[in-house]
Amino acid sequence: MKRRDFLKLAGAASLAGCATVTPAKARVVVVGGGYGGATAAKYIRLWDPAIDVVLVERDAQFISCPMSNLVLGGFTGMQDISRGYDGLRQRGVQVLRDEVTAIDAAKRSVRLASGSDLAYERLVVSPGVDFLFDEVEGYSAAMQSGNVLHAWKAGEQTTALRRRLESMADGGVYILSIPTAPYRCPPGPYERVSMVAAYFKQAKPRSKVLVLDANPDVTSKGPLFKRAWEDLYKGIIEYRGNVKVVAVQPGAVRTDFDTIRGDVLNVVPPHRAADIAAKSGLITTNNRWCDVDWRTMESKAVKGVHVLGDATLSAAGMPKSGSMANNHAKIAAAAIVELLNGRTPQPVKIINTCYSFVAEKEAIRVSSVHEWDGSTLQPVKGAGGVSAARSEAEATYAWNWARTIWADSLT
Ligand SMILES: Cc1cc2nc3c(=O)[nH]c(=O)nc-3n(C[C@H](O)[C@H](O)[C@H](O)COP(=O)(O)OP(=O)(O)OC[C@H]3O[C@@H](n4cnc5c(N)ncnc54)[C@H](O)[C@@H]3O)c2cc1C
Repeated sequence: MKRRDFLKLAGAASLAGCATVTPAKARVVVVGGGYGGATAAKYIRLWDPAIDVVLVERDAQFISCPMSNLVLGGFTGMQDISRGYDGLRQRGVQVLRDEVTAIDAAKRSVRLASGSDLAYERLVVSPGVDFLFDEVEGYSAAMQSGNVLHAWKAGEQTTALRRRLESMADGGVYILSIPTAPYRCPPGPYERVSMVAAYFKQAKPRSKVLVLDANPDVTSKGPLFKRAWEDLYKGIIEYRGNVKVVAVQPGAVRTDFDTIRGDVLNVVPPHRAADIAAKSGLITTNNRWCDVDWRTMESKAVKGVHVLGDATLSAAGMPKSGSMANNHAKIAAAAIVELLNGRTPQPVKIINTCYSFVAEKEAIRVSSVHEWDGSTLQPVKGAGGVSAARSEAEATYAWNWARTIWADSLT
């Protein structure tokens, strides 16, 4: 349904594009070339090639968080989860390797770290998250000295965490601390501990995985994860709910009640919409998230700016996921094409699917459908659901999902 809706919209937009004489090309600037921004840049060009699209991304390449937990298990490599931006360039997107340091919504321009300003008619902001390091005492110092890692943005920290796991002696303890929801990728931490446990089972069978979860219980696909842990990693994974890490120190984390020693400390700090959203007045809620109009993804705080992905204040039942960011991007792209052609955007139905590996070759899935109810997007009752059981088939679908979404976003 979702794909058909988008294709219909895309068809309508390009037909209208042919019929309309566009006096001057409009320019859309996109901040961030991750799951949301790359997809928005591509689809605006696809649905109306008369619009100039400039994508500003500070990193040289796209590195996917989805599938990065498999790197930690040693089941895939960084090169398998990294992609370049040439596919977008071939679509006519101008990709600038730079950083947006400020947004001037009144002048409709952004400031680049390299010094110049870029004017826009519409701005798309999909910058992901930044971490609230100060909420965990000692975090910044411990991170600088290499005593703690988050690896919650795929890249150098993913490689560093894999190295730490490889160099840990058999019999060591790996600690993963999970912040209170909402955080990026609800099932991501539970997939991560499954991957680390799968590695330990093969390579360091006396080692332990200790999960300290600030949430009362596993926040996504709970019964499926717990079944896998019981069947595959009994005696390796220990899960503790309602345990919030408040401080890190050399070789240990501190909770409100205890100091717990570990050999590899993987503490994911609480996070919020990324710094550029915070600096630009886009954050509306709890000092953390950006509320949007779900028909267009336009910010409720700053007109002309469309916010996507993890930075948004999630609608009911909506996870912070790459799958959602990719769908947000299509809502925004369709709306921007309509607005720049003088038409009224229509609400769009979207879908989320998140796969999680529980073993090298077994995975589980959760999906949901979200539709406009007159004021927001709501989960469609009876649509979506979770896998009946973990399976090798789901693992094949998971890899296919990843390769498909990378191609959909970047080529
Ligand atoms: C371990 C892990 C596993 C995950 N697994 C899954 C999964 O299986 N399925 C799934 O759907 N989701 C998964 N996710 C979640 C997914 O990664 C995020 O939801 C998704 O990346 C959000 O997309 P985004 O566009 O909001 O942000 P991002 O993809 O993080 O992109 C933001 C981009 O903006 C750039 N940027 C930021 N600020 C600026 C600036 N000022 N100027 C220029 N560039 C800037 C950044 O460099 C970055 O490239 C996982 C996440 C983690 C951590």
